Amino acid sequence: MRIRGDWCTLAAMGLLLGGCAANSKLPPPSTDIDETAFRMHVSKLASDDFEGRKPGTPGEAKTVAYLVEQFRKLGLKPGNGESFVQQVPMVEIRAATGATLTVTGARGAVSLAYGRDMVIWSARSAPQAELRHSDLVFVGYGIVAPEYEWNDYAGIDVRGKTVVVLANDPGYATRDPKVFRGGAMSYFGRWSYKVEEAARQGAVGVLLIHDGEATGFGWNVVQSTWTGAQLTLASVDGNAGRAAVEGWIQKDAARGIFAAAGLDLAVSSSAALHTGFKAIPMGLKADALLNDSVRQFSSSNVVAFWPGSRRKTEYVVYAAHWDHLGRDPALPGHNIFNGAVDNATGVAGLLDLAQSFVRTKPVADRSIVFLAVTGAEPGLLGSQYYVQNPIFPLRDTAVVLDLDTLRNGGPTRDLTIFDAGNSDVEEFARASALLQGREISAEPTPEQGLYYRSDCFSFANAGVPALYAKGGLDDTARGPVWGRAQLDDYMLHRYRQPSDQYSADWDVRSALDDLALYYSVGNRVAHARRFPRWNPNSEFRVSRARGVAP
Ligand SMILES: [Zn+2]
Repeated sequence: MRIRGDWCTLAAMGLLLGGCAANSKLPPPSTDIDETAFRMHVSKLASDDFEGRKPGTPGEAKTVAYLVEQFRKLGLKPGNGESFVQQVPMVEIRAATGATLTVTGARGAVSLAYGRDMVIWSARSAPQAELRHSDLVFVGYGIVAPEYEWNDYAGIDVRGKTVVVLANDPGYATRDPKVFRGGAMSYFGRWSYKVEEAARQGAVGVLLIHDGEATGFGWNVVQSTWTGAQLTLASVDGNAGRAAVEGWIQKDAARGIFAAAGLDLAVSSSAALHTGFKAIPMGLKADALLNDSVRQFSSSNVVAFWPGSRRKTEYVVYAAHWDHLGRDPALPGHNIFNGAVDNATGVAGLLDLAQSFVRTKPVADRSIVFLAVTGAEPGLLGSQYYVQNPIFPLRDTAVVLDLDTLRNGGPTRDLTIFDAGNSDVEEFARASALLQGREISAEPTPEQGLYYRSDCFSFANAGVPALYAKGGLDDTARGPVWGRAQLDDYMLHRYRQPSDQYSADWDVRSALDDLALYYSVGNRVAHARRFPRWNPNSEFRVSRARGVAP
């Protein structure tokens, strides 16, 4: 898999950024992506032996040992002093079955069944969490966004109360391009933002109304993801800053709650679409009880380092999450969530890229960092911890290239850049794609906000331009309709299910193309005169924790 083309010709065509003078002495980059190694890593990481790679389980120990061994074999240096590992303190909170949630109003009480009508949990490290006669307030989308002149909490004090919140954002609901980001999910549409905002407002409870389309996942995913042991980062205050009870309510159950308040969910939801919407006190009280068992443990980010030649203290970071969902003994038959596509492919890609950079002579100007992060599935925990405790200063990190859930299948005519329009590193991707005969295509499901659901988001949110791109749906042999059917089939039948398994029948040409592209983009940034920059209208431009002026 070799990228052909002349960077300087492309630069002359105005397709590339930065000067080519510094690069003209470079030999063509080695972009051989090793298919045999890729398949070997995927099959190993996705084998039953690795038990679904859940943090804090024997599957983690095997995964981390495998990654360290592979990085060492390739000749990379430990990324964290003498160690390939960055410890990530985590807490596992497991709600006992039988968690209760009751809503009481003038017309009586509604009890919601755990699992069927609602799934609640607590992020606080305490044996018990509860709501006691907490007033319910419908806060629409639960968004405070000055940049969109939006404040669902205006004029209401929710301290000690429980907020009821719609999924996604008003732009999604109206598809009006002038409202938030139109049909594409914004930063404020994510469920995790809403939970954080509710806590900032002082709410003790936050109940998110589930909607399969608006959230991008079905109720079955809520049931499998938010029940059982929940992982969060450990904090000194035991996460006392979070709401006591967080949860999802199934839509029919939500209708019932609104009816108990003499309200109509659909009518109230439409009211929430307009600026000037006022939160609605529902005249209902919520009572909830959760008994939790709490376990503290240490998980690991794995980090390997390949020093640059001239700008050793500036970094290009490749990132992929190594974790997946573990196993569920309650399921009959094969009950290991092998996570072959999600994300053994990304981690195998990380190892393959490391191999390609080790073989590249001469080495790049900037250093290359390979970061396999933990805890992405429970909420991007490993990458979040890394940006809070960076090993390599974020201000010296030029870019993060995120590998998550590589595409299975033949070559494509297109490349999808997720949440496109953020930074000019996308121009590097566009140019590299062109050399492969590919064009950039629109994100197939922008309403799902996949960029915010992958580790790139942790870095972007901390101010580091982060790219997440992969082969699109336009299969060269079978076209976009077939490609779309393949994606839908994966989402429906394998995504976050035990059936996400490796097979030697896999056509991995698309993944190899994407790795060649990632190699080329990273190598290019590693030689470029300046760091990639945020575009002026990017939502991440304002949140530059790495402390450089935009
Ligand atoms: Zn993933």
